[in-house]
Amino acid sequence: MLNDNATAKPSLAPPVVRFAPSPNGLLHLGHARSAVLNTRFARSRGGSFLLRVEDIDTTRARPEFEAAIFEDLAWLGLEWPTPVRRQSEHLADYEAALTELRKLGLLYPAFLSRAEAADRVRAIDASGGSWPRDPDGVPHYPGDDRALSDRQRTERIDAGEPHAWRLDMQAAVQNLDGALHWDEHGAGPNGETGTLAANPAMWGDVKLARRDIPASYHLAVSVDDALQQVTDVIRGEDLFASTSVHRLLQHLLGLPSPRYHHHSLVCGSDGCKLSKRDGATSLASLRQQGATSDDILALAGLAQSA
Ligand code: GLU
Repeated sequence: MLNDNATAKPSLAPPVVRFAPSPNGLLHLGHARSAVLNTRFARSRGGSFLLRVEDIDTTRARPEFEAAIFEDLAWLGLEWPTPVRRQSEHLADYEAALTELRKLGLLYPAFLSRAEAADRVRAIDASGGSWPRDPDGVPHYPGDDRALSDRQRTERIDAGEPHAWRLDMQAAVQNLDGALHWDEHGAGPNGETGTLAANPAMWGDVKLARRDIPASYHLAVSVDDALQQVTDVIRGEDLFASTSVHRLLQHLLGLPSPRYHHHSLVCGSDGCKLSKRDGATSLASLRQQGATSDDILALAGLAQSA
């Protein structure tokens, strides 16, 4: 029987927060905002601030970016316990979660490549259909592999056919009747706050393990927040919609649900989505141009050192 641990109850225990960047580019002002908000939250409540390196995407993670993360955060005056948790060193934890979901019959091998999936959606759109998109605008998985028999799955896997693992969303949300909620202490992009209803179905059959990597962001973040006993997730509102998936995975895997505090993003001249590819707002380049840590705080929309 699934055990739906209720969302975290108010407690007097000191909070545990984490900042969890991916080392696939230089940190920018948005990261500084998030890291400093986390650290201030923990400091003001006698809690702990953890740094976690989310490097499961081995095609993009690079050691020099990890080194730059440590350097930038130390320069901002942040401290964290070491060794830090590097997700690439804990793949067995994610595999264990996948095994559990497989046992629940909620996981299926998805054989369409990205290009094949895109072609299929294009064909549906062209024939006047309208295929659902997730909150990031990505089409839901259009394959019908969910209907394959166990024998067909095994045969194709044994034949070496590349495959990802996806959650059968319809089966996963069956019987939930809108009963999944999370505690939002910040706000979503439209000011949503308080006890919020999760709506994971809007993401379709999310990928929980990639063809080339035996985990995905959604899976690893949900498992790690529980393993590291994170009580409060403080992160940008660009991840607000993802919380619905994390809440569902917590429910399915019997993990506790932290409190969430989504914060507004740092906006640049051309919008609020600063990219790691946009070197101009990287902390390293601002520092090279002579910015002080107080300048960075101001640019990140934060009051000076609390
Ligand atoms: N690794 C994610 C990122 O760099 C953040 C994950 C999270 O805070 O939940 O965007």
